Amino acid sequence: MFHSCVLKKNLLRPVCALLALLLVTGGLTGCGNSSQKQVRKTSFFLNTVITITLYGTEEETLIDRCFELCRDYEALLSRTLDGSEIYNLNSRLTDTVSDETAALIQAGLSYSRLSNGAFDITIGSCSSLWDFSAEAPVLPDKAALSEALTHVGYEKVSVNGNSVTFSDDRTLLDLGAIAKGYIADCLKEFLLENGVRSATIDLGGNILCVGEKPDGSDFKIGIQKPFDEQGTPVIAVSLSDWSVVTSGIYERYFEEDGTLYHHILDPSTGYPCDNGLLSVTILSEHSLDGDALSTACFSLGLSDGMALIDSLENIYAVFITDDYELHYSAGLKDTFSITEY
Ligand code: ADP
Ligand code: MG
Repeated sequence: MFHSCVLKKNLLRPVCALLALLLVTGGLTGCGNSSQKQVRKTSFFLNTVITITLYGTEEETLIDRCFELCRDYEALLSRTLDGSEIYNLNSRLTDTVSDETAALIQAGLSYSRLSNGAFDITIGSCSSLWDFSAEAPVLPDKAALSEALTHVGYEKVSVNGNSVTFSDDRTLLDLGAIAKGYIADCLKEFLLENGVRSATIDLGGNILCVGEKPDGSDFKIGIQKPFDEQGTPVIAVSLSDWSVVTSGIYERYFEEDGTLYHHILDPSTGYPCDNGLLSVTILSEHSLDGDALSTACFSLGLSDGMALIDSLENIYAVFITDDYELHYSAGLKDTFSITEY
């Protein structure tokens, strides 16, 4: 599927999740031979907690350079950051973007088409009316939301080379559901180019493994029990080199009058998807695919989402429904070793 990172030095502000996925790796401590060395640093970019762990090295500067890349990508792709390419497009200050932004918008449009609009990068006019991170979140005005909804529709956007045009002057792009996955792929490429052979990249629960653990074994990635404040995993998946991304209703939400409002919106209503799902986790080679598909499948719901995953090669999913039941896509359990807790 889509993958190409260009911006290596100079790039969003997606959203983000608290830690939906956990690394259940046994900690190695630094010293002794190189296979036992490790360095881990945590920072806050892209509106989320970012943790990068390198194995077989104690070279912190590579992690600092990853953080700089996160800052650059945020400055390029954020919907809300004044001066970003997406901000300028949405403000109609320009119709020209970099190769990298154009390619990511194209990828977003492909997923919008693939999901028949359940995933839609033109959700911006609606998502900008919600603020799930506010100290005292308020429900958007109903009339404003239904007006905003009339500007949602991926078919209103055309990308031609570096030019991005809209058939509706009030359509707004929001790459929040794919940007972190894309950035994780870019960080991995950067680390590989710099000689790293074993690492984990965790962008707010969007986890991408580089290689395998230094002892040749798989990383063990936990999938969190929804709403569990201790982050207790329900299962852990053993894998190397792959991505594990979760979209869930417990990541960003508020409650009003007994109703929970979360940040994955149904592009046909402008309101949070309400379909009995608590989370969807995607296992894929590239994190961009995982990020897009976790949001897409959440929006599609269990039945259509599972059918989509089963139609795709080399992509697997775990859906958790509101009875805390786990639903695995075809072949997942034959492909990966799963630990159930
Ligand atoms: P997170 O980034 O928190 O892990 P997601 O990848 O599921 O979660 O992305 C959710 C974000 O994507 C929202 O905050 C919003 O910016 C945007 N979004 C919400 N609903 C949709 C949708 N149906 N299609 C595309 N983007 C969406
Ligand atoms: Mg996503």
